[in-house]
Amino acid sequence: MKRNTIYLPVLCIALFMILICVPVIAEGGGGGHGGGMGGGRNTDLSYILTGLLSLKFIIGGIAALSGIILLETTKIDRNIRTLLMCAIFVLFGVLVIMHQPSPLRAVVDLITALVTGSAITLKKMTTIIFISGLSVIGAKLFCGWVCPFGALQEIVKRIPVPSGKNNKLPFNISNGIRISIFVISLVMILTTGSDLYTYHNILNPFELFDWHFDLVLAVLVGTVLVASVFVYRPFCYLVCPVGLLTWLLEHISIFRVRLDRDKCNDCNNCIRISPCSSVKAIVDGDELRPDCFSCGVCIDACPTDALTFGIGKTSANRSRDRKSDD
Ligand code: SF4
Ligand code: SF4
Repeated sequence: MKRNTIYLPVLCIALFMILICVPVIAEGGGGGHGGGMGGGRNTDLSYILTGLLSLKFIIGGIAALSGIILLETTKIDRNIRTLLMCAIFVLFGVLVIMHQPSPLRAVVDLITALVTGSAITLKKMTTIIFISGLSVIGAKLFCGWVCPFGALQEIVKRIPVPSGKNNKLPFNISNGIRISIFVISLVMILTTGSDLYTYHNILNPFELFDWHFDLVLAVLVGTVLVASVFVYRPFCYLVCPVGLLTWLLEHISIFRVRLDRDKCNDCNNCIRISPCSSVKAIVDGDELRPDCFSCGVCIDACPTDALTFGIGKTSANRSRDRKSDD
């Protein structure tokens, strides 16, 4: 993986600016709050601000903030993490209607609005701003601490694998598939007005939380859950456009997992125990990291407290030493 990928933070900042500017530039014809934007800029912005102060976003914000506080102040072992994921699944997947609009549909509609100039509803725009804001504050805070489908995949991952192996998806392959699905959807939006993710909702598992049972969707969700036993968050790494968006924003997020090189004794415990492929990139000092869901497992696994959650990045010097030693 290339280390000096300066273009990525630049791309992310540009993306974030677009997301911030969309309430102003994506005026559509719908007018009303449930319809497209364009009921007046002040009205739109005040609707979005009011929306962000609604119960579900306040609870979502509290969950994400609690994540930051927990990660900064204590070690979260896998059992505690699983209990927290159960709570998040119940809160946002069962009790609070966090999925309306679903994060996946909100992101797809934003892309559609950006490429076709169509309108996007203020509810969806509020959801986008919530997801993006959290992702800039901390690495994938929405995905790691609010999303019910992400939580469900993590819960299922605790089922022991017969082989006992800690399988990890190679990031260049998983991200290649995720980007390919995105590009196919982009082409579909431009040519047919539809997209792959929400095409008959076959790639939108969030429909599940709406009790929309459909055979194809049931097969997809079943497949994802079976795959989740063997690999960490397969839907997030391979398919989800929200995962793609938050992975990009992760490159400019303020809070993240960081390494104190002076404390690291190269035991590789974190790499062995963690479910993701991101921790190796963090230890190696790679600029281009696979998605980190801020789960805290690597921090808990580190016997020397070299891994922490906080502001700032790992310096690149020792990574070169490590690589030249390999
Ligand atoms: S990548 Fe998608 S499914 Fe996974 S946690 Fe994020 S929003 Fe949820
Ligand atoms: S690097 Fe991996 S194990 Fe560590 S917090 Fe991120 S997702 Fe969890």
